[in-house]
Amino acid sequence: MAVNKILLYYYFTPIADPEAIRLWQRDLCESLGLKGRILISEHGINGTVGGDLDACKKYVRKTREYPGFKKMEFKWSEGTGDDFPKLSVKVRDEIVAFGAADELKVGDEGVIGGGVHLKPEEVNELVANNPDVVFFDGRNAMEAQIGKFKDAIVPDVNTTHDFIKEIESGKYDDIKDKPVITYCTGGIRCEILSSLMKNRGFKEVYQIDGGIVRYGEKYGNKGLWEGSLYVFDKRMHMEFADDEDFKQLGHCINCGADTNKFEHCINEDECRKLVLMCKDCYDNPATRHCGQDACKEVAAKAAAELKPV
Ligand SMILES: [Zn+2]
Ligand SMILES: [Zn+2]
Repeated sequence: MAVNKILLYYYFTPIADPEAIRLWQRDLCESLGLKGRILISEHGINGTVGGDLDACKKYVRKTREYPGFKKMEFKWSEGTGDDFPKLSVKVRDEIVAFGAADELKVGDEGVIGGGVHLKPEEVNELVANNPDVVFFDGRNAMEAQIGKFKDAIVPDVNTTHDFIKEIESGKYDDIKDKPVITYCTGGIRCEILSSLMKNRGFKEVYQIDGGIVRYGEKYGNKGLWEGSLYVFDKRMHMEFADDEDFKQLGHCINCGADTNKFEHCINEDECRKLVLMCKDCYDNPATRHCGQDACKEVAAKAAAELKPV
């Protein structure tokens, strides 16, 4: 039986000719039958591809043959063989859209001027030894509704594009002299965010090696992480362990019941919102809305149509 895997990876390195890398990567994936999504910019590469185990192994080997990618790490996870509808390999201004393509500086050792990398145990050490340390969430605010580091600051951002405006707003000036640990799912967003923060006067900035994923794998619910992790695939969320130390943070927007599942508002034509909904509120069209008046009306109408006349 075929064994399927998913590879997750990113690497910051100067790429002189992103289009050449795109063509090479596309041909490589096509020849190996891999599907997924790869972004390439002058600053590096960011990809998720899936397929047969042997094809994935060959992909890793071939990709590392490019001198700039020699030290790239790949994160392996289980695949179903049907994880991606197609292959997409694109050149963009940025591999993560912060709107900072001209500001980001990358050298042979990765991002220049970023935060200090901390291993999971170093995170705990820093926090234990310094009461001033603050966690700063480098994700979209929504993701923190179901899980975050203890007492973390969650900036008011809908997309990564909002970060620059947010850190320039003055709201966080009081932490510019404190040790700040930025964190995100796998670490890529904080590579950039930490450098943008340092450029704006945050003096002591850290980032977590491997992000929340690596921290959670090490400490489960027994460290400084609280709750679930938002993930960008069909599952929508994951827990590091199922034990009595798990802290439930997510609640249904309509009835307040415990839930960690984001669902689309019923008013999908006009409202793109993903909101936390319990199964009962989601299954009933009357309560499958995000709370905005227009969406409530759509929900009421859908519910009325279901009722026998
Ligand atoms: Zn509910
Ligand atoms: Zn809505």
